[in-house]
Amino acid sequence: MHICYIIAMQAEAQPFIERFGVTLREDFFSPLPCQLYEKHNDEDDSRLSIVTLGRSHDRDLLGCEAATLATHAAIERLKPDLVINSGTCGGWERKGAEIGKVYVADGVIFHDRRVPGDDNWGTQGVGNYPVWEHSEDVASQLSLDMGRVTTGSSLDLQPCDEVIIEREGGELKDMEGAAVAFVCSLMGVPVMLVKSVTDLCDDGADTLETFLQNLKKASEKLSEANERLVKLLFSRYSS
Ligand code: SAH
Repeated sequence: MHICYIIAMQAEAQPFIERFGVTLREDFFSPLPCQLYEKHNDEDDSRLSIVTLGRSHDRDLLGCEAATLATHAAIERLKPDLVINSGTCGGWERKGAEIGKVYVADGVIFHDRRVPGDDNWGTQGVGNYPVWEHSEDVASQLSLDMGRVTTGSSLDLQPCDEVIIEREGGELKDMEGAAVAFVCSLMGVPVMLVKSVTDLCDDGADTLETFLQNLKKASEKLSEANERLVKLLFSRYSS
């Protein structure tokens, strides 16, 4: 089985890179900015790739455009059996979120694509992409909660986005999930999303400040969960 992670920020990926001892394949995707780390196990032919979005303006790239590009390049070049988008997200205290809590997605939509016109434009805007059919099994075996991820291009939460999030039952807010799932749906590759909460959208605190305070802790929790996840996938879901 070949699992390919798409992870936006280096800080989110680093604990995972260290835990798994994957190696950087410099310039593998050049001239695209995304970066490949990988490891191949000859004994059982299992393969783990981690693709980060890369950098621009001396900062890690974030968001839908870079995630779309990285996911497409990764699927074309690496031909994984399963894509996993893993990273941090915002949550809601009133919906049970806590800092560092790790979730598996049971669905993913866009929350900032308001397209006037008929129902079809609206439906296309929201997206609503399928997640891997075994996501629920895996979450229950790892004792992780499930939640609906919603994706937009901004870290802040605008009231007009919140209307869509509430209408669609969103619980976890990120900037890449739906873009990764969109590409996977087109390319016919199953996708799972595993997210850990860095900030709470309803606690009145400054989002960026809380995000930066909790990024390390949330990324460590995420890499613990991902280590258990990869073991489970390689042992039970490899065919
Ligand atoms: N400017 C920050 C980084 C941006 S945070 C810095 O200085 O490091 C946004 C990243 O974390 C995105 O990749 C996104 O997927 C995730 N994220 C965490 N909390 C989020 C929230 N409340 N809303 C949207 N994305 C969030």
